[in-house]
Amino acid sequence: MTNPFFEPWTTPFGAPPFDRIRAEHFPAAFDRGMADNLIEIEAITANPMPADFANTIEALERSGGLLTTVGAVFGNLVASLGDDGLQQVERDYAPKLAAHGSKVSLNPALFARVADLHGRREELAMAADARRLLERTYLGFVRSGAALDGPAKTRMAEISERLATLHTDFGQNVLHDERAWHLPLAEADLAGLPDFVRDGAAEAARERGLDGYAITLSRSLIDPFLTFSARRDLREIAYNSWIARGTHPGPHDNMALIPEILALRAERARLLGYALYADFRLADTMAGTPDAVGRLTGEVWQAALLRVDDERAALLRMAGADGLNAMAAWDWRYYAEQVRQSEYALDEAALKPYFVFENIQQAAFDTATRLFGLSFAARPDIATYHQDVRAYAVSEGDRHIGLFLSDPFARAGKRSGAWMSSYREQQSLDGEIRPIIVNNNNFAKASPALLSFDDAETLFHEFGHALHGLLSDVRYPSQSGTSVRRDFVEFPSQVYEHWLSVPETLQAYARHHASNDPLPVALMDRLLSARNFNQGFATIEYTAAAILDMDLHAHPDPASLDIAAFERETLARIGMPAEIGVRHRPPHFQHLFAGAGYAAGYYSYLWAEVLDADGFAAFEDAGDPFDPGAAARLKLVLQSGDSADPMELYVGFRGAAPGTAALLRNRGLAKAS
Ligand SMILES: [Zn+2]
Repeated sequence: MTNPFFEPWTTPFGAPPFDRIRAEHFPAAFDRGMADNLIEIEAITANPMPADFANTIEALERSGGLLTTVGAVFGNLVASLGDDGLQQVERDYAPKLAAHGSKVSLNPALFARVADLHGRREELAMAADARRLLERTYLGFVRSGAALDGPAKTRMAEISERLATLHTDFGQNVLHDERAWHLPLAEADLAGLPDFVRDGAAEAARERGLDGYAITLSRSLIDPFLTFSARRDLREIAYNSWIARGTHPGPHDNMALIPEILALRAERARLLGYALYADFRLADTMAGTPDAVGRLTGEVWQAALLRVDDERAALLRMAGADGLNAMAAWDWRYYAEQVRQSEYALDEAALKPYFVFENIQQAAFDTATRLFGLSFAARPDIATYHQDVRAYAVSEGDRHIGLFLSDPFARAGKRSGAWMSSYREQQSLDGEIRPIIVNNNNFAKASPALLSFDDAETLFHEFGHALHGLLSDVRYPSQSGTSVRRDFVEFPSQVYEHWLSVPETLQAYARHHASNDPLPVALMDRLLSARNFNQGFATIEYTAAAILDMDLHAHPDPASLDIAAFERETLARIGMPAEIGVRHRPPHFQHLFAGAGYAAGYYSYLWAEVLDADGFAAFEDAGDPFDPGAAARLKLVLQSGDSADPMELYVGFRGAAPGTAALLRNRGLAKAS
């Protein structure tokens, strides 16, 4: 069988030949990738010369090329397509890849060379990026367990392998529950739903081979349904199904997986000398300790609770007209929308015709043109993995910067949420290699595809991540693009959201899909003045999830945890308002349990918001949202990847370390003075 992974790619920009890649190509490609990688590691450790930077650290940076390529293509396709063949490969290979990773990171001869070099680092003349790479490579080995004794190392490898399987199962269980459920709606069930929700529900029904309308568990459909449906009985059914993902007894139950995941993580932290997993994870972040995170979430939580009291009172006045004297969690979005319409005369359904997907994506592109000098050219000739995906060549003047893939719409099998990822990362260790970046969203597909303002912000958010990947200008693969500390990675994405709300952007790109008229100024003013509306709710639903995450990962004995009881008790302790649901409940909290990426790290969005609020103020202070000086300094941050310390990069951009004042002001949570 010819396997595209074993041939050079002659596609434009070396894009993966998506039209030829099939699920059955991955097992052999992974096997060869791992085998090649072990030969490369063997060559490093067998080198009779003493360790130096080139023969050890740079050689490591050069190793694993095929495995990296195969892993990137696979990881992206399983998330974006999620078909059964790919999912089977994922279940088979997650533990094998974890075992392979342990073989490299726990290799005693390899670690001996890295440690030897690290011990002599003061004597070596090195460029700043190389020095940082040596320190972070050494730290990576230590945090993987390379400095432990034999039995402890064996146990570390076992833990990694078991966790890989549990993470895969967790994510696939959520996907299963999202695919399995839909709420069929007849014409009579559509009360309150504006056209765009009806269109989205009709498209979802069509995709599932049904007549009429269906609500699915995609956030881009369930969120507007809960916001607009006048049928309280249907809102209750939909809401309860949404928050029950991952809780159904049987083969797809995530409740049983969580204590085991937490216990394995806690054991790993203890082996490495930390009392708690949260201590271990936070040690390698900007925040540094769980206490520092607790101070930030605590400050925001208290301010948001006060704010929610006012919001609840306003919503209850509206609900009273419907005969309700108390609200449930499936009522908040609905009455918030009613209050928003009456207080700000702002109707989401009236706004939406002005937010056409193509125009908002063009706004994101053109903002990057004005700030960073990039241009974007559609490349319909480049094959992609699905008909909805579009390819764009990105350049700066005559220079090719990267390839950008846009995968905007929800479909069955695609992972929920929105994310940026890469098929290839930038590096210039052996000649310039430019990146291939993808943005995934789950917008409801319709013609025209209309976005909510939140959807439009999400598009800008993910595109901010994409720019971090595209603009990357580093030497070493490990320092490329978004390979930064986890609580810094949301800064480029969140700061980019600010440019959507700039009046110049809205006037130019928020145009009615039928008439092409710009968003009326009065409507735009009401939209911007309503920005702080319902921020108490948004802050509470997010911060509660961040607190749950930290408390779960700071539990001393998680093996015995009853997750449902722990969730209930934690929310009661912090005074969670009964009418607000936590943004992600543990059984479907994929940030934490479908991988370890955001474990003890969901606070990162808030941490980065301190930076993005303070950071955008640089443009506000300059009196120009496109101020060339501030844009040039921000571009440097985006180009630097992990080649320098994040706080140093931030201070270089802003001139000083950030404070929380701008964040509280932007969320409308600042104390009245
Ligand atoms: Zn993000």
